[in-house]
Amino acid sequence: MALTDQDITRLRADTAGCEARIHFNNAGASPVPNPVHAAVTAHLERECQVGGYRAEAEAAEALGRFYSNFATLLNASADEIAYVENATRAWDMVFYGLKLVPGDRVLTHGAEYVSNYLGMLQVAQTRGIHIDIIPSDAHGQLDVGAMDALVTPQTRCVAITHVPTQGGLVNPAEAVGRVARRHKLFYLLDACQSAGQIALDVEAIGCDALSGTGRKFLRGPRGTGFLYVRRSALDRIDPPFVDLRAAHWESDAHYRLADGARRFENWESYVAGKIGLAEAVHYALDLGVDAIAQRVQHLAGTLRRSLSDLPGVAVHDQGETRCGIVTFDKHGTSPDSIANALEAQSMAVSVSTLSSARLDLGVRGLENLVRASVHCFNTEAEISRFCDAVAAL
Ligand SMILES: *Cc1c(COP(=O)(O)O)cnc(C)c1O
Repeated sequence: MALTDQDITRLRADTAGCEARIHFNNAGASPVPNPVHAAVTAHLERECQVGGYRAEAEAAEALGRFYSNFATLLNASADEIAYVENATRAWDMVFYGLKLVPGDRVLTHGAEYVSNYLGMLQVAQTRGIHIDIIPSDAHGQLDVGAMDALVTPQTRCVAITHVPTQGGLVNPAEAVGRVARRHKLFYLLDACQSAGQIALDVEAIGCDALSGTGRKFLRGPRGTGFLYVRRSALDRIDPPFVDLRAAHWESDAHYRLADGARRFENWESYVAGKIGLAEAVHYALDLGVDAIAQRVQHLAGTLRRSLSDLPGVAVHDQGETRCGIVTFDKHGTSPDSIANALEAQSMAVSVSTLSSARLDLGVRGLENLVRASVHCFNTEAEISRFCDAVAAL
């Protein structure tokens, strides 16, 4: 079901800053809806009154909803969900925990997130593994046939990014899952930019683990993230760190890992943020992720067409399916100066840098790009004001 005009009116009423500012940086940090803000501040207020431990005990039900809401969002079980402070650490808990030995190979793709790739480089240096880059097809997305051909008897894992931070591409996550399963590869999916703007079903995708953040398209608080790990994949990962939440100290010399994905959590965490992220997932589920996706795609398509019509402007998104992230540049004007000029008019964008996307922008011969990322609370009127501003630069 598509979002109605009434839904959009409510969405905008729930988004405090959206009349004063055109917020096209939802891939950076989307403004949290009022119910999320209210959930966070109510908990912080309670911490002031009764202290953090008591406030946490009183919030047991709301904290439980973190697991059940993500289970619904991802089509998983609550015990397959962990709260982690950001997407990078969630991803690290799995990747660094894979029992990789010298000579093992991992597959990735040029759209991989910079921090994940840095982690792979470190593990390559410390444990002697090899990284194989899956080429892109004619659409610029991961070439599934080429992936199949790259698998060797030493290949253990495929770790890819669903939607890159630096463009509108949507990688074929489900097709990758079919190849991964056929070769019994561990499949780690970075869904940081897709969670909240595209429906995710871990059964359909076939991934063993999936990581994401709170602040982007899910519209949760900053400093929050989540991790899904398939129950049957737990044995393939040894958490790189354990603490008293992740493990039980059973005797002087023995410990036992906690059940399920809890073994990837920390004892200490941002409780108000966790409650806020649970509320943000509820907010998205209530609207319907398919309805959100439909509107985001429609708005992004409109933005791409309008930008392409402007003299000197080039849109650079790739892939058969494109999402809410729109990247472009303008002849004769640097992306930084475009972003600054737009900010001066209360229009938020960000800049995707070559140094954060060497295997993507670098390979395509591109430098930095302006990134405008739309969400369901944005409007066509905002797009036309935005394009007027870009045209006038
Ligand atoms: C933002 C981003 C991350 C990192 O998320 P953090 O919560 O900042 O750690 C990982 N992957 C992709 C694709 C991203 O866009």
